[in-house]
Amino acid sequence: MSLTFALSKGRIFDDTLPLLKAAGIEVLDDPEKSRALILRTNLPDVRVVLVRASDVPTYVQHGGADVGVAGLDVLLEHEAGPYGGGALLRPLDLQIARCRLSVATRADFDYQAAVRQGARIRVATKYTQLARQHFADKGVHVDLIKLYGSMELAPLTGLADAIVDLVSTGSTLKANDLVEVEKILPISSHLVLNPVAAKLKRERIRPLLSSLQAAVQAR
Ligand code: ATP
Ligand code: MG
Repeated sequence: MSLTFALSKGRIFDDTLPLLKAAGIEVLDDPEKSRALILRTNLPDVRVVLVRASDVPTYVQHGGADVGVAGLDVLLEHEAGPYGGGALLRPLDLQIARCRLSVATRADFDYQAAVRQGARIRVATKYTQLARQHFADKGVHVDLIKLYGSMELAPLTGLADAIVDLVSTGSTLKANDLVEVEKILPISSHLVLNPVAAKLKRERIRPLLSSLQAAVQAR
């Protein structure tokens, strides 16, 4: 019974590796040295496929992979979007790649006053679904502007009044003279499972889940 893991290169791959190792799975290829997108492991029936971070839910939902690791930001944005369908199981918070989803503005923009006055705020973000939900819950009127990267630039160029983006240390915001004005949601990466694989490969997945859970708790 083979098992395919979907991971994204970078921090998720790097932080998942030691957890997999603790669960007895060692990835044999180094994605920084090879161009291979399918990586072998020490177990002949387990492989890792490398996909874009935001493609992990899609791969797992449609069975391109049985298991995946993705940030809660990516997972919730996917679920709330047009292709979400609520078809993913999320059995374990791996507590890696921790950060938070926040609202940030230029230091000279009075966010609280704008909210109080019921002004329309222009918000640039990659997370349009999460931002829409957040401001709807607050009863704040927003014009959402979808971006794919470098959100920090939007308030600096006048494209937007605010951004909704991930913050970890805050140094990127600081370097761009932006201020975190509201915390929306704590983020970490979770293990996700294809529900069909979870049933059909239960015997293979269950011990893996226990080992991963133990590895997370041991940290
Ligand atoms: P791509 O680089 O393909 O556009 P990405 O930028 O979403 O995708 P990463 O930067 O590897 O890919 O981020 C993957 C996940 O790691 C995010 O979805 C988020 O959950 C988390 N993350 C992102 N930035 C940080 C950060 N600065 N600190 C900690 N975790 C982060
Ligand atoms: Mg990134």
